[in-house]
Order: sequence, then C-alpha cells, then structure tokens
Amino acid sequence: MGRTALDTTASADRPYLSKSKFLWGSQCRKLLWVAYNAKDQIPEPDAATQAIFDQGHEVGALAKALYPGGIEVSADVTDFEQVLQQSLEAIKERKPLFEAGFVYSGGFARVDILNPVGKDEWDIVEVKSSTEVKDVNLLDLAFQAFVYSGAGLKIRRCCLMHVNGDYVRRGPVDPKKFFKVVDVTKDVSGLSREIEPQLGDMFTTIRRKQEPDIKIGPYCSDPYPCPLQDKCWAFLPTDSVFNLYYGGKKCWRLLGEGIIRLKDIPDHVGLTERQAIQRKVALTGQPHIDRKALASFLKLLKYPVSYLDFETFNTAIPLFDGLSPYQQVPFQFSLHRQSAPGTTPGHHAFLADGPGDPRPEFLDRLRSYIGNAGTVVVYNAKFETGVLGGLAEAFPEHAGWMDGVKARIIDLLEPFQSFDYYHPDQHGSASIKAVLPVLTGHSYAELEIQKGGQASLEYLRVHFGEVPEDERRKVREQLERYCGTDTEGMIWIVDALRQLAG
Ligand code: SF4
Repeated sequence: MGRTALDTTASADRPYLSKSKFLWGSQCRKLLWVAYNAKDQIPEPDAATQAIFDQGHEVGALAKALYPGGIEVSADVTDFEQVLQQSLEAIKERKPLFEAGFVYSGGFARVDILNPVGKDEWDIVEVKSSTEVKDVNLLDLAFQAFVYSGAGLKIRRCCLMHVNGDYVRRGPVDPKKFFKVVDVTKDVSGLSREIEPQLGDMFTTIRRKQEPDIKIGPYCSDPYPCPLQDKCWAFLPTDSVFNLYYGGKKCWRLLGEGIIRLKDIPDHVGLTERQAIQRKVALTGQPHIDRKALASFLKLLKYPVSYLDFETFNTAIPLFDGLSPYQQVPFQFSLHRQSAPGTTPGHHAFLADGPGDPRPEFLDRLRSYIGNAGTVVVYNAKFETGVLGGLAEAFPEHAGWMDGVKARIIDLLEPFQSFDYYHPDQHGSASIKAVLPVLTGHSYAELEIQKGGQASLEYLRVHFGEVPEDERRKVREQLERYCGTDTEGMIWIVDALRQLAG
C-alpha cells in the first residue's frame, strides 16, 4: 500500500530502520549499507518497477473499502515524530487504522491495516497485490508484528490479504470477492523471534565505515531484483557463464571456481547439449547452424503465411467485465501476409482506441484479416495461444474460428530454442530481440518502444490517463511501428533461415 515519503534514516538522532530497509537488509547487507551510506548509487525505479508500485497502491486503496470508517493516519505527514504522535492518538479511537506508525527496538513499522478486535486487541492486515502468499511476505509481517507488539499493542492475529486469482469481474469490483485473507499468525510468530538479533546486526552494518565486501549471489534477484545489479554485476563480461541456457546453480558453481567466461569452461564440466553449443560458439566465435533441422522447420510453412503478433496489457484490478486479475487483454495486433517466399507482404494492423474494452473489436478485425488457409507464424506460440484461449472463454461465439487459427500456428521461436541456430551474440537468449540483429542486421534499437512491457504501459498511459492529443497520437504511431517490426522481423528471420538452410 502507499507510503508517505518519510526520512527514517538510521543515525544517532533517528535510530530507526523501516520495513522496506529491513527487507533490503535481509536480502543483502551490502544493499542495506549503500541505502544508508551512499544512497545516490541506488537508481530511481524504472517505468516497469514504478508501474508495479502504482498497481500496489491501487490494490491497497481497494482493500481499505473493506474497513469503512477507517482512519488514514498521517497521510501527508513527512515528519517522523509527528507520525508517531498521531498514531498514538489514533489508536485511542478503536477504529481501523491505515498505516499507523510505531517504533520499537530500532524498527519503524507502518502496517497497511490495523483492525481493532474485542476490547483491546488488534489484527494486523498487510495487503499484497500478488495472488499468493510468498515467504518474503511472512518476513514482512513478522517485522511489523515485532514492532507493534514491542510498542505495546496486543496483537491477536497477523493476516495477509492478497489478490484472489480466481476472481472474475462482473460489474463494479467487489473487494470482498477480489481479496483472499490468510491467517499467518503461526508462521509469523516463529519468524518474529529472529527480528531483534537481525536488527542489531543490520545497525552494525549500517555504521561500518566501508561498504561490506559481498559477492554477487542468487540473492541478487531473490526475493526482489536488487536495484544495485548494474553496479555489482558490471565486472562480468558479455560472454559470461551466466549466459548458459537454463544454467541455474551451474553458473554459480562455475563462478565459485573462478570460471567466468563461457570459453573457459573446462571439458570435464557436464553441460547440456545446448550449453555445449554455447561453449563451442564462444570458442570459435562462429554461429552454430544445423542446416538439416532448419530445412525441416521451413518445410512446415504452408503459403500464404501470416506472420502474427499481439500486444497485451494486464492489471491487478480487472478493468472490464469477464476479466480476472492479471489476465492478458489484447489491444493490438500486426499481421503480415506473404503469398510465397520472397514476395512483398501485405500488412494488416489493429490498435484499439479509447478507454473501452478492446477485445470485441480486436476479435472482429483479426477474424476479418486472418483468413482460413496457410500457416500462422508467431514468435513464442505459448503466449499467442494463451491469449486466444482467454478470448475463447470470454467470447465463446468466437471459439470456433480461433480453434482453426490455433491449429495453423507454427512457432518461429522453436528453431532458436532448440539451438538449430545459435550465434554467440545472442548471449543465451532465443528471444526475437536477440535473434533479429544477429541474423538480419535489423534491430529494435531505433524504435522508441522496444519491449512488450513498455508497449503495454504506454498504451495504458495514453488511453486511460490524461495525455495531450498530440502525444497520444505520437505514442500510437510508436506502438504501430513496434508491433509492425515484430511481424516484419519474422519475415526477415525466415528469409535468413532459408539462405542458411540452402
Ligand atoms: S546486486 Fe547482489 S551483491 Fe550487489 S547489493 Fe544487490 S544483492 Fe547485494
């Protein structure tokens, strides 16, 4: 849920650690040290991360509707002492409190919802925008419960309120059905005992003169992507062992043995077939090409071939009826059709306009353009077929023709996922963004929108936010170019594969 931007810097005059810093400290002491001693090194959240935060705030606001008469404590107050004072006053009201702030033993906690129960007890409720309980959520609550109990509140239960993934919107969003509440009091009480010693150790870290010497590890992305990855991982070359396809623990083992580059992996290290190809191309600098396999793949294409790509968005709180939380909503497609190899393709495109549900028009337009003969080529069929499946459920009257489309789909990702072609500059990735430049010389670098996630955010921003008309138009053109490059790029890739297959 939303937080007032408070300065809770741990120092001699203000010795408190907030929950978010405590969680950072649990993930990595170096991250904690930097957060307090060199915080300008921590980059601002990027647009995708900010969108996740914003979504969390929206979910939090919806949760509050379940507690009518609740008091928002110190919503706009930035003075730390004032928050504490106002929170102490607010608990006397015995009403649900949103984000009341308390301190204890160096910890400063603001619980999403503090709900009065019985004569003098309280339930702690933390709201999460995920659809399940995660371990890190329990630690989060343990910290809150430790501080609140220590500050003198009688805590009866600790609960997590998370999004119900099975919820389907019908009319206005019903918070009672949208959320699931899980009582995690037992799990939390076990963890709470670990909070005090951890806090002590974290303060010792913060007060060190030097940054702790901590090497990179799996914790750099678990439970959250660390904002210092660019700094700590900068020593790795572009052909590092972390490119290994499904490398998992093997990458860490190799790094531990001092093996950093793919080409330095010794013969005796067990590699999968695909990883062995990566090592081979790293040594030779030449791409791996299985001409026979490429020729077999190309034989699957029956002309006219339709190259198809969808763009989608998803939101925690469904925007339209019939949607579940985080369900993909297609708002754009690009379709290039070639009647024979090497011929000039025709192009059809659709980009929904306005803040309405884009799906009905998306379906009508796709149906009118897709035809009923020839292969439909997509890149990463799992995604497109998943979207079609969701549409078929929501609009059963369209299910028949969509089944026909699904049966015609061939996945252009396959030859790259199977490593029938692999270039060292793919750096372990089979995505179209990695494959297109190495095979064709074309890339997304010149485009304003370069990723699917960015396309979703931009679409939502200019169609659901308040944006001047000329900017909206400009973004729509950028979206058209981006999606069009995906399908035109597939034609270029197939052309290149034909040349390689001979
Ligand atoms: S990138 Fe890894 S090592 Fe560096 S601060 Fe973050 S978690 Fe720690």
